[in-house]
Amino acid sequence: MRIDVLGVGFDNVTMGEAVDRAMELMHQPGAHVVVTPNPEIVEVCRQDPAAREAVNSADLVLPDGIGVIKGAAMLGTPLKEKTPGIEFAGHLMERMAGEGLSLYLLGAKPGVAEQAAEKLAAQYPGLKIAGTHDGYFKEDGPIVEAIASSGADCVFVCLGAPKQELWMRKNGPATGTRLLCGLGGSLDVFAGVVERAPKFWSDHGLEWFYRLCKEPKRIGRMMKLPLFLVHVKQEKKKK
Ligand code: UDP
Repeated sequence: MRIDVLGVGFDNVTMGEAVDRAMELMHQPGAHVVVTPNPEIVEVCRQDPAAREAVNSADLVLPDGIGVIKGAAMLGTPLKEKTPGIEFAGHLMERMAGEGLSLYLLGAKPGVAEQAAEKLAAQYPGLKIAGTHDGYFKEDGPIVEAIASSGADCVFVCLGAPKQELWMRKNGPATGTRLLCGLGGSLDVFAGVVERAPKFWSDHGLEWFYRLCKEPKRIGRMMKLPLFLVHVKQEKKKK
């Protein structure tokens, strides 16, 4: 059973369980979807029914960060742990490399996915890169075809939320791949274009603050975080 946080149902799994489940899904027929919402995306889902539907219909819904964990705990339904998309992706690639499986990278600015591919191939020997494409395309058709003909076992869809969730919902089955993971800005990090917060910050639940200092233009988006906490408090009162 999923744990509801303001209308988004989260799977209550550890990182290890999430990766095991994703590997199982990758070996089952059909297009399966993994999403990793943070409080900002939960707020988007509250406003946008199509985004909410796309997120909730995913096969695995993982809490990306400390905000969702705090929210779930405040509501009296704690989640086991945070499972940040980027860390989940790292563990998944390790397992895929062990089995010689292939990965398609979709998203980010032109050149970034290729750069990420080079780094990931070196970091995870055995992992096959099935193909790459930037995230600034007009038509879905050619991308879907490229993924299908690549024969990829898994696709990282990094178009930002909720665009990536809607894209996976609409196009997942036609790609012929068995696992699609919506991973936001991860390709920028894998490529080395954007730096992830040092461990100290994420260990203290302050990754968002580090990111804000690095990219002050995110302030508008980040204002959704206090709003999320206000909404959690309101929801708690109703219980
Ligand atoms: N992006 C994209 N296509 C678009 C809009 C965004 O490929 O039409 C990419 C963007 O270049 C970035 C990622 O999607 O690499 C979103 O990054 P952001 O930091 O906003 O994602 P988050 O991890 O916060 O969801």
